Amino acid sequence: MSRPVDLDPDDWDAFRAESHRALDEMIDFLRDLRQRPVWTEPPPEARERFTRDLPQAGRDFPQVLEDFDRYIKPYATGNIHPMFMGWAQGAGTPVGMIAEMLAAGMNSNCGGRNHIAIDVERQIAKWMAQAFGFPQDASGIFVTGASMANFFSLLVARDQAYGESDVRLNGLGAQSGQLIAYASREAHNCVRQAMELAGLGARHLRLIPSDANRRLKISALRHAIAADRAAGFRPFLIVGTAGTVDVGAIDPLDRLADVAHTEDMWFHVDGAFGALAALSRELKPLVKGLERADSVAFDFHKWLHAPYDAGFFLVRDPKAHKRAFAANAAYLSRAPRGLAAGDTWPCDLGPDLSRGFRALKTWFTIETFGAAKLAECIEQCCRMAKRLEAWIDASDHFVMRAPVALNIVCFAVKDDPDGSLAREIVMELHERGEAAPSLTILDGAPAIRAAILNHRTHEADIDAMTVYLDAALRRARKEPHDFGALVEPHGPGKTRLSAD
Ligand SMILES: *Cc1c(COP(=O)(O)O)cnc(C)c1O
Repeated sequence: MSRPVDLDPDDWDAFRAESHRALDEMIDFLRDLRQRPVWTEPPPEARERFTRDLPQAGRDFPQVLEDFDRYIKPYATGNIHPMFMGWAQGAGTPVGMIAEMLAAGMNSNCGGRNHIAIDVERQIAKWMAQAFGFPQDASGIFVTGASMANFFSLLVARDQAYGESDVRLNGLGAQSGQLIAYASREAHNCVRQAMELAGLGARHLRLIPSDANRRLKISALRHAIAADRAAGFRPFLIVGTAGTVDVGAIDPLDRLADVAHTEDMWFHVDGAFGALAALSRELKPLVKGLERADSVAFDFHKWLHAPYDAGFFLVRDPKAHKRAFAANAAYLSRAPRGLAAGDTWPCDLGPDLSRGFRALKTWFTIETFGAAKLAECIEQCCRMAKRLEAWIDASDHFVMRAPVALNIVCFAVKDDPDGSLAREIVMELHERGEAAPSLTILDGAPAIRAAILNHRTHEADIDAMTVYLDAALRRARKEPHDFGALVEPHGPGKTRLSAD
């Protein structure tokens, strides 16, 4: 007779003690994060650790935890740190961490069926419908991120446009008329990729020029649609962006909704981070028109700080959403009672069948902090961006490259036409662990980009950023300089002088 085997601890008390220690250490890690560099490159020793062969024998849990502490934990992206301003990334919260652990304990499969996780996900859809001014029966689903949600929007809009000719059954080849989508040239690249993936072809995405504030030009859009109709194409989708990835610009959503309405097109908003501005009474006017969208893509893992990943796709018309994805399979059949009961399941609203419980960390985040405090953090980010902008405007060495619309500051070094100084400064700041801005290209020229999404980024951090920038520029120009004692670097073993 073979010995029974399972994966539970032999000694639950020992496991409890070891787990509590691991949790305590992670809580300390979060509490003390300001004392560490924002980023540390994984040394060869750490990378080497992950080149081994598949282990046949396991090791004790504490040994594995030790490896985690030594080779993994110190070498994270850095986005939890207040000086992380690169790209558009959320910071997470201690509460979110616990929620993620609790969800893993439940280990719910959220593809469907009759269990509470599905209700929690529906609760989030209802909340966001309220926040964005959508009807209460709007349909929503968690996805990995806004890239995926934007892709979904294309599929739903495509299937809606082809309608009775049933593109899911008959394929694109059976359809008449080439569908054309429109977005500003500032739109995220995932929109283009979605055109590719949906089989519509990237060349059928029209990238419409934007104005001086990098907002889509309505007149150019109208013109492009008319030209495409005249050429026999079928305009079907307008993608507006609420918070462009480069500079945080917000397209004139209300006017885009007008055009979509008159032209009988689907109006989708990519609001990856910017749509969440709707939670703030102060900022909500900026995203006026969002409430008229047919669908919205956004991320709880960006400006709401749910742990990665937690993207969301919200659709005004639940029937249109379901039509794009629902399928019949015997093993997914619904029962009148029991665990297989229920009507619409998440697997009817996207291609994933097995799915994790992303709703739980989002629910914990919103329940714990409330929409008002989360909105305050969003407003604070915008104020911090203004503070950095004011410093740059007053600086002799740096110059703004785009107006601050929300929370992103794009700037350059004066007299640095090829951007080589900017590039050097960004890499230096990363390598010294002082700050993590990113680099982007605006109108063909590199720009330093500080995207401020972190609830932990406060005035003292912005002021530290200005000191680091000046010092990095001096080093880049190889000028002698005095470090000054204004702000201590966030270097290893150093603590900040200034409290915030
Ligand atoms: C971040 C971002 C995306 C992509 O979202 P992911 O969650 O990274 O997939 C799309 N659009 C905009 C405007 C973004 O800022």
